[in-house]
Amino acid sequence: MIFGLKVVKYIREVLNRQDIRIVLRTGQPGYAPEESVIKEYDINDYKTKTELTRRKLVTTVYAAIRSYQQISTVNQSRLGLEKIVSGSSSLLEFHSIAKYTQGALKQLGSLLEQDVNCLFCARGQGIIENADDLSFYIIAQQGFSSQLVNQKLETIEDKQISDQVKSCFTQKSHIYCDDSLYFYLARGGYRAVIYLTLAQSVSDIQKQLVEVFLTGIAIGYENVHLFQKLNNAAYKDVLTNLPNRLEFVRMLETFSKDGQDNAVAVLIDLKHFSDINDALGQDVGNQLLNAVSQRLQRLSCSCKIARVGADVFGVIGSDTCLSPTSLNAIFEQPFTAGEQNLPINACFGFCSKEHANSSGVKVLNQINIALNLAKKNSSTHFAYYNPEMEDETQWRLNMIRQLRNDFAENRLELWYQPQLSLSSGKVIGAEALLRWRTTDGNFISPAVFIPLAEYSGLIIEIGDWVVNQACSQIKTLEKNAFNDVTISVNVSIPQFRSGNFVEAVLHAIQKHAVLPSKLELEITESILMDEPQVVIDALVELKKVGISIALDDFGTGFSSMSYLQKLPLDRLKVDRAFITDIAQEGQSIIAETIINLGKKMNLKVIAEGIEELDQQARLVELGCDEVQGFYYAKPMPEEEFLKFLEQKRD
Ligand code: C2E
Ligand code: MG
Ligand code: MG
Repeated sequence: MIFGLKVVKYIREVLNRQDIRIVLRTGQPGYAPEESVIKEYDINDYKTKTELTRRKLVTTVYAAIRSYQQISTVNQSRLGLEKIVSGSSSLLEFHSIAKYTQGALKQLGSLLEQDVNCLFCARGQGIIENADDLSFYIIAQQGFSSQLVNQKLETIEDKQISDQVKSCFTQKSHIYCDDSLYFYLARGGYRAVIYLTLAQSVSDIQKQLVEVFLTGIAIGYENVHLFQKLNNAAYKDVLTNLPNRLEFVRMLETFSKDGQDNAVAVLIDLKHFSDINDALGQDVGNQLLNAVSQRLQRLSCSCKIARVGADVFGVIGSDTCLSPTSLNAIFEQPFTAGEQNLPINACFGFCSKEHANSSGVKVLNQINIALNLAKKNSSTHFAYYNPEMEDETQWRLNMIRQLRNDFAENRLELWYQPQLSLSSGKVIGAEALLRWRTTDGNFISPAVFIPLAEYSGLIIEIGDWVVNQACSQIKTLEKNAFNDVTISVNVSIPQFRSGNFVEAVLHAIQKHAVLPSKLELEITESILMDEPQVVIDALVELKKVGISIALDDFGTGFSSMSYLQKLPLDRLKVDRAFITDIAQEGQSIIAETIINLGKKMNLKVIAEGIEELDQQARLVELGCDEVQGFYYAKPMPEEEFLKFLEQKRD
């Protein structure tokens, strides 16, 4: 190969320069390279010495230089465009405004192939947390101090820069100065200005490329805003602006995986929130929630707060910050909602990092288990999750499922325990008591399943069935000419809360066509503690039609005398606890007091749980009216009860 061609090969293949233009000149026509070589090595021109005059040489060189310029312009644009494309696509990965704008400035520097100092500026509202003004803020920076980020534009000392940025916003167009550029970005209502200073001047091509790049940046900038909005809609609570349940689950996941050893997560449930909402309206309810949210935010700046449900807040923090005492303190003072000053109580369910499951949803479930227990615990109002609780919950769920099934299959029975007059010894009534015999033939105590039925709400349906069964039993008694025997039915609080309890009882009475005075409802004192007015209103209604009302387990609760006076009572039932030792010296004082109270209030008094003759004897001395207990008869199925009555008939 001739020497010239070796040089050409070196330029193209070793130096890998395709842009350099090459003109070959040869002295001997016979040495002309093959046409294929000219093509292969991209040789611009081939001239023999003889034809290459001075003028021709100049034009040939000019032509080659022009061609080189064109090639390098195209190359530069291509490289620039490649950078734009790859830069824009890598920016697509950023979903937060902060990261996106930071990334955009970095790409800009790489596009201009120099270290640039630049700022990304936009209005603060909706972008920067807690900035709800419309002034200009620095969202991202490159080459300045990172402390400028999220600060107002005026924080930069050079006033000229901030003035120019502002005028760029008002002029709505780019501003090119000698050593600095101000680019105006606008897309779909989102506006921003990028300011940059240059170390070296930029070519026109670079300027054009930057403009193309910025069009893409503006689109991406709108996208991250839209993404942020979607994110907010999905993960923020609109009312309080706190993270919502979904976000709290994510927070719990981080808590369980990366939280400090002393970290704790807590759910706070506001008591009686729905009553406030119903009674004072939703606006007051909303204001109350905001007031609670604000007070929670005072806890400690390291605590993370979320609104997890209508009246449930979630907080994650250290156990020193989040203790039952510190949380109780938050609820000590009433909350201001509109014109109201509302005292609010709350229940707390805790789960420590130590016990937390690794999945956020499961941790939420764990805290919920603790919270549910806390709700039932009327004295302390809080509970810490421990794994045994889960077994209990599982057991409870299984029992409820089984109870629901057996009730649907009509496996519940109503038994009757006779009640007698102490003076005449005659049967004057019976208490209807639920019995649950499971498929394996075992009885489960009402003390076990009634609380589960109450907890699950199943007691509403079951209670309605009990009232109907009792009415049907009253009818049977009438048919058998036991005309003076009443039936007492126990009633739980969820039945009163169900809203149609009064109607349901009246309906049962009509349906079975029984005398209302033959039916008695037994309520316990504890029912009154929760929502006395709901209960009193319902009982007053029922009393009007002649239904009789008894206060069960009297003396074991803490009902206030003022409520007692408001209740339309007919009978007091002295709890078994005060009867057990009644025959012993000095042990009858409470029973005696209750009996005297009953007399003063003009109520009948019946004693429960009499098992022995000397208990009866003491009750006679004390002037008790009626009795019920194993000494006379245990609760028994319907047919047995009828036989029992038959035997007692004189
Ligand atoms: P309660 O209303 O106080 O019913 C009296 C309980 O004392 C019954 O227990 C009865 O069997 C028991 N008892 C009666 N006499 C004696 C006695 O001499 N000695 C002893 N040791 N016990 C006696 P039971 O049937 O296990 O019912 C427990 C509780 O379950 C009832 O207490 C009542 O609160 C609730 N319950 C039963 N049936 C119903 C129902 O239909 N609805 C509702 N809401 N609660 C019910
Ligand atoms: Mg009872
Ligand atoms: Mg009782």
